[in-house]
Amino acid sequence: MRKAWIFGMAVLAATACKQGQEAEKAIEEMSISGDLHSYSKPEQAKVQHLDWNAEVDFDAKVIRAMATWTLAEGAKEQVIFDTHDLNIESVVDETGNPLVFELSARDETFGQALSIQLPENTRKLSITYTTSPTAKALQWTAPEQTEDKVHPFLYTQSQAILARTWIPCQDSPGIRFTYKAEVKVDPALLALMSASNPQSTNSEGIYLFDMPQPIPSYLLALAVGDLYFKPVGPKTGVYAEASVVDTAAYEFADMQKMLEAAEALYGEYQWGRYDLIVLPPSFPFGGMENPRLTFATPTILAGDRSLGSLVAHELAHSWSGNLVTNATWNDFWLNEGFTVYFEHRIMEAVYGRDYSEMLASLGHEGLLVEIDDFMAENPEDTRLKIDLAGRNPDDGVTAIAYDKGYHFLRLVEETVGRERFDVFLKSYFSSNAFQVMDTERFLSLLRENLISTEEEQKIGVEEWVYGTGLPSNAPVPDASRFVAVDAAALAFLEETKVLPAAKQTEQWSTHEWLRFLSKLSDADVERLQLLDKQFAFTQSNNSEIVAAWLGMNLRQTAVSEAVDKKAEEFLVRVGRRKFLTPTYKSMIEGGHIERAREIYSKARGGYHAVARETLDKLLEMES
Ligand SMILES: [Zn+2]
Repeated sequence: MRKAWIFGMAVLAATACKQGQEAEKAIEEMSISGDLHSYSKPEQAKVQHLDWNAEVDFDAKVIRAMATWTLAEGAKEQVIFDTHDLNIESVVDETGNPLVFELSARDETFGQALSIQLPENTRKLSITYTTSPTAKALQWTAPEQTEDKVHPFLYTQSQAILARTWIPCQDSPGIRFTYKAEVKVDPALLALMSASNPQSTNSEGIYLFDMPQPIPSYLLALAVGDLYFKPVGPKTGVYAEASVVDTAAYEFADMQKMLEAAEALYGEYQWGRYDLIVLPPSFPFGGMENPRLTFATPTILAGDRSLGSLVAHELAHSWSGNLVTNATWNDFWLNEGFTVYFEHRIMEAVYGRDYSEMLASLGHEGLLVEIDDFMAENPEDTRLKIDLAGRNPDDGVTAIAYDKGYHFLRLVEETVGRERFDVFLKSYFSSNAFQVMDTERFLSLLRENLISTEEEQKIGVEEWVYGTGLPSNAPVPDASRFVAVDAAALAFLEETKVLPAAKQTEQWSTHEWLRFLSKLSDADVERLQLLDKQFAFTQSNNSEIVAAWLGMNLRQTAVSEAVDKKAEEFLVRVGRRKFLTPTYKSMIEGGHIERAREIYSKARGGYHAVARETLDKLLEMES
């Protein structure tokens, strides 16, 4: 997933809400399987295939389904699944005989363990159940919250541990399975999954899916809506609502080129097609790397193809994350650090080194700010190998995993040379395909196959991975494309308040504007007014620029009516956490917490559960 972390997460450091001793005991036992966030005990019984038969009911906001699990050989005594607010109706074996099952006490973060007794030689069992209308993975979007405002929309977000809220599963990134599904929806709507997908609706509203490559549960995904398909290349295309599909095809025209660049770097794409779906604006992340079908926010439709690095990021996950998967959420940096590194390499291959360095440079600046925040509040969370025991793994979604991880890998590249690093990475992806990887195993592969003892010392591998903060040998991306932008920002901060000429700013992409605004974070109200008069930021439709602009303004004690109105409109329409958290935080900093709460109470119903959870804490509001 891309860039959705919580700024200053340390302030919000969450502890699992524990309900009763029984839940606590069950959580303690989780560590037995090596994954701190799953009740399943794969050493006892492990799944290998899912047949999912489901019907989507928009009126009741529930999915009624039967999950038939095939177990790997050697299952003994009982199998344990993770569930969260599922209403389990029955569990039967292959011949229809009921199996004895029990649910543990409910934990607010981890849900319930579903333990099923296994008579000898049981290899297959079927669980019939209904999801809860408040299932955390499922976002039931009303027609008015979609672009075309006619039909409702449903999408899932399973990462990190929300798959269990819509399918009983062994919800651990270390456990893989193949799946087939049959999904029934309103015939006016199209259903899509992280699998082989239809390209148009059929009259019955029944769709069949097949994912023949084994995936972990966090990559289970479903979207249902009034959706249309448009190809972009022979193996790539976009799905979106009718009024968005052409815009999306234009914006992501380079998908095929990116796919080819990625294959040239690290080997064949293993998943068949690579398509992308544009979701409603409530989607809490930038993108989610669901295999074969990236889920993406509409806020990257900038109109000028300037936010395409998100596609490079999600595509890169087809290798780092989806093919070689972090063993537990404590190893999350293996998924995201590698993906940011790979993303920059794709961007470099397609758009040139100076462009990718510009992006890396923005990431670098963001990382420095976030490291500072963490070092003041919660330095432990700046370790690449993070300890998330007892916590929601969503707490690990920070710039540390992404950008500290990237900086470490870039340092390895710079130390050993790109040629050697590429050979290592290509073989790393192919020899560990469809397997899990933990930090320790990765480090031993690195030592065995790439770096010498001398190089290891030069890099300071242990300090990078297990130490806090940012080591002093962190690489600094080349920001030369920003020299003129920085000079323009400085000139404007001078007494004379000189603004850059139109001739200069005409050439600027979203990235130059973001850099310009980031250098003006201390501008006073008078300067903010001058800027708006000249560049009309309050009227901008570019979500990145709007978010940056709102932040600068809302941190002030005095906020203009126009900015306040824009803030409300933006926060009610968009649910991407990357924008929500800093915007609400700026309101708090500026002393506008009551106004922030007022807007939040209007907007909250339209946000996905992962965004609501973060903001409930930030604004100290009870659901
Ligand atoms: Zn990612």
